[in-house]
Amino acid sequence: MTCPTVKLSTGASMPLVGLGTWQSKNNECYEAVKAALDAGYRHIDTAELYQNEKEIGRALKEKMDAGMKREEVFVVSKLWNTRHHPDDVLPACQKSLDDLGLEYLDLYLMHHPFPWARGDNLLPINADGKAEHSDVHFMDTWKEMEKLVDAGLVKAIGVSNFNISQMEEVLTNGRINPAVNQVESHPYVTCNRMLEFCTEKGVVMTAYCPLGAPGDLKDHGLAVLEDSELKKIAEKHGKTPAQVCLRWQVQRGVVVIPKSLRAARMVENSQIFDFELSAGDVEIINNLNRDGRVYKWEW
Ligand code: NAP
Repeated sequence: MTCPTVKLSTGASMPLVGLGTWQSKNNECYEAVKAALDAGYRHIDTAELYQNEKEIGRALKEKMDAGMKREEVFVVSKLWNTRHHPDDVLPACQKSLDDLGLEYLDLYLMHHPFPWARGDNLLPINADGKAEHSDVHFMDTWKEMEKLVDAGLVKAIGVSNFNISQMEEVLTNGRINPAVNQVESHPYVTCNRMLEFCTEKGVVMTAYCPLGAPGDLKDHGLAVLEDSELKKIAEKHGKTPAQVCLRWQVQRGVVVIPKSLRAARMVENSQIFDFELSAGDVEIINNLNRDGRVYKWEW
């Protein structure tokens, strides 16, 4: 597949479809990324939290040894909550680069606006069983991320799970505007207001959980791909509900990063540029919104 791209505020082109890799681990992750690259994917989404950057690096190296150029693939990683302290930002980015075997990232996101206790425990829990927070303001973290751009370690920086007022703060007080905000979005959480805001500010929105994370259905109970309205639209176009979810996003300029370990599904998830949803289809999908989130982050 040759995937259409969206222009970032930096001028770089970002493929509208990428491979998500949360919960892809070890050899399975390596095989999945190799399969995705073979299927023509040129955008991979990862994070320190996913603990799979070495496997992704192995797959990228193999493909680059076989002729793929570094600049042909768009690699995204994220700064984890325990690395918000200004002294931790550069080392965290460098560790992701070393694990991925890359000299630069195409995009580095602040994974969340809220900081957790420093250290190598990625999920620090306090005596109440809650995440142990720290008191670093995200603007202090952002200023260090800006220096990563200056140093050439990352081509663009952005945020994830930021709400509109947090984004406004970065846009007002930062030196570099966030190129992207990566948020949960699928037909049950359409994020229309966020998209409108991002579009107005020249920020690209990426939708995570674009299929409603069907693998975790028993935990969140949101059977997005089973929705009867989505099924009707899919049938009308000779497509699957997953393809309708993804098409709806890219048609409104939103980047999607569906995760799969299966080559056939990767192909299915990328075959979304040969049909178009009508205004009526789009209205039906927009009306499915119910603020139904897989992830209930404290913002
Ligand atoms: P998702 O992409 O909505 O769903 C992934 C699940 O759908 C997997 O269980 C996969 O199973 C299945 N699947 C894939 N294609 C399918 C298809 N065509 N039909 C039916 N089922 C299909 O959820 P996600 O993985 O949570 O989110 C996507 C990516 O967003 C993540 O992998 C990660 O990179 C990113 N993310 C970011 C954040 C953040 O805070 N920034 C949070 C969550 C996720 P198989 O693997 O078996 O195919």
